[in-house]
Amino acid sequence: MSVSAAIGEGRIGPRLWMYANYHCNLRCSYCLTESSPGVLRRQLGRGAMIERALEARELGFTGLGITGGEPFLLDDMPERLAELAQILPVVVLSNGTLFHGRRLAALDRLRGLPVEVQISLDSAEPDENDEMRGPENFAKVVAAIPELLARGIGVRIATTLNDPDAYPQAAMDRLCALHRGLGVSDDHHVVRPIVRRGRAATGDMGVAAGFDELEPELTLTVDGAFATPFGPTIRNGRLDTDLLISRTTAPVAFPAALLARAAGAHAPGSDARLGIR
Ligand code: SF4
Repeated sequence: MSVSAAIGEGRIGPRLWMYANYHCNLRCSYCLTESSPGVLRRQLGRGAMIERALEARELGFTGLGITGGEPFLLDDMPERLAELAQILPVVVLSNGTLFHGRRLAALDRLRGLPVEVQISLDSAEPDENDEMRGPENFAKVVAAIPELLARGIGVRIATTLNDPDAYPQAAMDRLCALHRGLGVSDDHHVVRPIVRRGRAATGDMGVAAGFDELEPELTLTVDGAFATPFGPTIRNGRLDTDLLISRTTAPVAFPAALLARAAGAHAPGSDARLGIR
């Protein structure tokens, strides 16, 4: 099966993910990558990201996802995003705590471009949110979202819960009222479970998920190509390789073909999958 056919039939996701870096200004209790300020950065170079994006477009991918670590710790991330958005629409995942001062001003260049920032916000209660993500996280995120929207930058909110099914409806209602009040609509709010990998596994949190439970989405890092953005996780300082497709990431056609072949055995939208985004 060709890569474009696998994308067209929904067997692999239409978005190419790239891990820009692994370091982060936070140290969340469920972090899949054990990120913190002092970890190995494992950065993907700017040129490599642009080249892989161009190749992905040729192969039939229709979007890009940028994640980390905290991508906006890289000073040139706004320029990278502006370049990538000329190639394909981009979603960039962020903890939302760095958008002030010069970093906020640098986002002006993204106005009008197809770039969405997906920001983590886990509760409408500041204490509950900050317990998992660190002091002042809630206040910084709530302040940042209107600033991004005012610059014409799309915002998505991602809520990560240990057990979404057990989360009280009244608490979810308060969270939804909060994001609507901030200007983020319901279709830009995703709720997903913690995946039991990285620091979440060490802390015995979340749901176990392997290749059969996760949507196949090609994911590139400096260490190799993985079957899903939940693949290149770190546990006890070591890279997990159970979802590694290939140490070779270039050209993208190589790992993409391997993933298409592996995903071909699964029906699109298999009920076994958890639908975690
Ligand atoms: S979960 Fe995200 S914000 Fe939290 S430490 Fe990990 S990379 Fe940073």
